[in-house]
Amino acid sequence: MIAYLGLSTNLGDKELNFYVAKQKIQLECQILLESKVYETEAWGLEDQPDFLNQCIQIKTHLQPEQLLQFLQNIEAEMGRVKTEKYGPRIIDLDILLYENDIVETDELTIPHPQMSVRNFVLMPLAEIAGDIIHPILNQSISQLLKICPDDKQAQPKSNS
Ligand code: ADP
Ligand code: MG
Repeated sequence: MIAYLGLSTNLGDKELNFYVAKQKIQLECQILLESKVYETEAWGLEDQPDFLNQCIQIKTHLQPEQLLQFLQNIEAEMGRVKTEKYGPRIIDLDILLYENDIVETDELTIPHPQMSVRNFVLMPLAEIAGDIIHPILNQSISQLLKICPDDKQAQPKSNS
């Protein structure tokens, strides 16, 4: 199965956090595509360090719930502590899209509910999945980026 993940970090050595997270992801999944790394202002709670964001395409045998569990284990192994919503984090691993599936349970919503309103998700995702159609909104990721109302800018990091 093909899925798209969103990675974000704003604490510690952020580049290293992405490196470690991707090494761990590759224990169960194959990373097929990676977007550039974006630098973005904090969203929601603004008084905190800037974020790095990236999207990756993976091939996996894990079902959506198993994939969520696997990603949450990685977050925990990397020392993420649950604090406030939108607060600072060592690593956040979100499932953005999983095949063409729509999932709606207490633990899991796919497509990720916030992705269509955030430049920091849509910009990297459009690089690797521009033509993929959002299964609920029925528009491509590139179209969603064009009409995204988010006023926060996301910039590709110059060395990525
Ligand atoms: P956020 O990513 O919104 O900043 P968290 O990473 O703390 O917040 O996630 C909170 C909860 O979101 C998780 O416990 C998880 O059950 C739920 N969740 C729902 N849909 C998804 C998804 N598509 N990907 C990752 N987590 C999700
Ligand atoms: Mg998350």
